Amino acid sequence: MGTATATDPYRKVQDVAGFADVPLKEKQRLVDQVVADPRFEEYLYGCYECGICVAACPSARFYDFSPRRVAQAAARRDVELMYQQMQEDIWECSQCFSCLRCPRGNNPGGIITVMREVAVNNGLASAREALEGYSRIIYKIMSTGTQVSPDMLQPDAFPDWGPEVADVSEHLELWRRALPPETHHTTKTGWAVAEKTLIELYLIWLETGALDMINQVDEGLHMILEEVMEERLEEEGIEV
Ligand code: SF4
Ligand code: SF4
Repeated sequence: MGTATATDPYRKVQDVAGFADVPLKEKQRLVDQVVADPRFEEYLYGCYECGICVAACPSARFYDFSPRRVAQAAARRDVELMYQQMQEDIWECSQCFSCLRCPRGNNPGGIITVMREVAVNNGLASAREALEGYSRIIYKIMSTGTQVSPDMLQPDAFPDWGPEVADVSEHLELWRRALPPETHHTTKTGWAVAEKTLIELYLIWLETGALDMINQVDEGLHMILEEVMEERLEEEGIEV
């Protein structure tokens, strides 16, 4: 599988996307990291080009995005196209994994997960931009072990959630009673994370390098999280 040639239509995509100034060696380095990931082989067995994944994909309905294009680029080891996708396409995926319907046994959403991780680990501009609006959510998840407490769903808590949140918050108790798990039937007690679980999460994020990944995309956030975690772990007598 070679890289795109000058007559290849995909080359046009790369040129239009404006990544011609990035050295091929750098693109190859990132693609090599994707292919070297142990999950990659499990997620890709070749592609029939049947388009079933595209038909199942919700993101393909709303964006100029195609899981088939991701699978094909990966199958061809098309360095130029895979790089362009790491800078653009992969952030349109909603990670729903409806594309697992693939008759060839591919997992385009999984390939995208790996590509995203490589993009984040290498601090690509696309990763920084994609995660820019989520710094408070990342902070909340990584410092408390949960995304939001139920009663935080208020119009003034997160203004960037948009106008609909006002309607939702007005009937929040009612919405939550409609949720199947009983623990979610209140705006007071759901999503509480036990102290022991939180300590375990901190250790997992430190040991697996998940916290280091944050450093690549948001140094300020990384610094705050590191401080919070280290302080809490020290209180528990755990050296980091
Ligand atoms: S995981 Fe991504 S590529 Fe797969 S169906 Fe969902 S949105 Fe589409
Ligand atoms: S469903 Fe599978 S085989 Fe068909 S286009 Fe998508 S990745 Fe290729």
